[in-house]
Amino acid sequence: MAPAAFIQTTEKYVNPMSNHSINFIYLVSATLFMLGIKYLSSPRTAKRGNILSMIGMAAAIGTTMATPGLHGFTLIITGMIIGAVIGGYTAIKIKMTAMPEMVALFNGCGGAASALVALAEFQSNTGGLDSFTLTTLLLSLIIGGLTFTGSLMAYAKLQGLIPTRPVTYPGQQVVNGIIVLATVALSWFLFQNPTSILALSGIIILSLGLGVLAVIPIGGADMPVIICLLNSYSGLAVSMTGFALKNNALIITGSLVGASGIFLTKIMCDAMNRSLSNVLFSAFGQVVESTDDSEEGPTGSMKGFEVEDVATILTNAGSLIIVPGYGMAAAQAQHATRELGDYLGDQGVEVRYAIHPVAGRMPGHMNVLLAEADVPYEQLFALEDINDDFSSTDVVLVIGANDVVNPAAKSNPSSPIYGMPVLDVEKATTVIVLKRSMSVGFAGIENELFYKDNTMMLFGDAKSSLQKLVAAMK
Ligand code: NDP
Repeated sequence: MAPAAFIQTTEKYVNPMSNHSINFIYLVSATLFMLGIKYLSSPRTAKRGNILSMIGMAAAIGTTMATPGLHGFTLIITGMIIGAVIGGYTAIKIKMTAMPEMVALFNGCGGAASALVALAEFQSNTGGLDSFTLTTLLLSLIIGGLTFTGSLMAYAKLQGLIPTRPVTYPGQQVVNGIIVLATVALSWFLFQNPTSILALSGIIILSLGLGVLAVIPIGGADMPVIICLLNSYSGLAVSMTGFALKNNALIITGSLVGASGIFLTKIMCDAMNRSLSNVLFSAFGQVVESTDDSEEGPTGSMKGFEVEDVATILTNAGSLIIVPGYGMAAAQAQHATRELGDYLGDQGVEVRYAIHPVAGRMPGHMNVLLAEADVPYEQLFALEDINDDFSSTDVVLVIGANDVVNPAAKSNPSSPIYGMPVLDVEKATTVIVLKRSMSVGFAGIENELFYKDNTMMLFGDAKSSLQKLVAAMK
């Protein structure tokens, strides 16, 4: 992020020629970011996308640092070193299963950085800002502030520091609405009285509070949507800061993050079968209380099987669909999964993988893991492309998936995941589920699938079970 001093200095000192060069390099950076995002859309090209984006970021930072008149290098470089050490250490240490928490924290850092830059600008130009700059700074402060606290709440929910289930109370939307109106009213007051510290403090407190209150009613299986939305907000905040500082690199990069974040939100909304307005304006993710007193837990009986029984079923199958979930990631069982798939493929079994869009703990989680294990792309099928095929499939092997194969999403209106499209695995002739116990998944709800007549449970760590299965089949 460019310091406030950068713009003041560029406006004062930069000659047209160097300004042209700066903007040209920013344009090259922006192009590299766009290409990076394009390449990131496929696991095949994702590495190239990352490298291009890194080059773009290095060029943007280098150009900003080389801007004539820039001062305060010691402070900037110290900040960069601290940030690089924290970022580098986290990137090396982070487990794949903890990526959503890290993304939530990084979104929050983006929001906080934009809000702090906006605050610094207010402080150094008290009363001297034109209305356009004042508007963009206010937006940067408000969006950045609510992104910061909203992301911290999302982090706390994902980390289990606070209850993951939605927290609701009567009149929740009215309270949120009043806070939004109060923020608008205070912003209007600040326009009339640009030196009012009281109005500025009120806006900061309200936007921080709004972030908390907007995220607490969201929980369970709906968390992926809010993480994407907060990601988009962090981009918007950066973009607003860019307008205020008249920095083209920030405007373009922020817009890219905002736009790609909102597209991802839309994709996740579709995956959860929710509209964007539902996400933004309703008690999104709220559990509908059941009015049916007679409603009981799952019917049927759970049947645990031994490795040898399951191995026999698998070797006799003509067709197999593998459904990976969070448990495969937790067990790091992607290589063992491919080994089993390859072995059965070699024996003439038709092997395919069904990927649910919110399986795991981050968008594309399963694709990334299976790509790492070199599972052929042509064997991977999205939910909508494979859901009709379960009824004509001999065996489905569910590896550590739970919510994404829970039939309650189709049959139980009181379920928090009701309406979410799920994989129709129960329609296959036989369903084999690999998990360690009867524990619930992320949404915290029972799964009737495990009690169905055609379901076989094989308990144990997914990686170890898969290795035993391959050994038994061989
Ligand atoms: P779930 O969280 O529903 O279930 C995972 C299952 O894996 C658990 O029931 C657990 O059972 C089992 N498991 C855990 N560790 C192991 C292990 N070592 N070996 C074998 N099994 C294991 O996962 P799904 O992928 O089905 O669903 C994802 C959920 O996460 C959805 O509710 C989604 O909304 C939510 N989510 C998704 C995000 C995304 O972007 N994809 C982000 C945030 C949330 P047991 O303990 O008995 O082994």
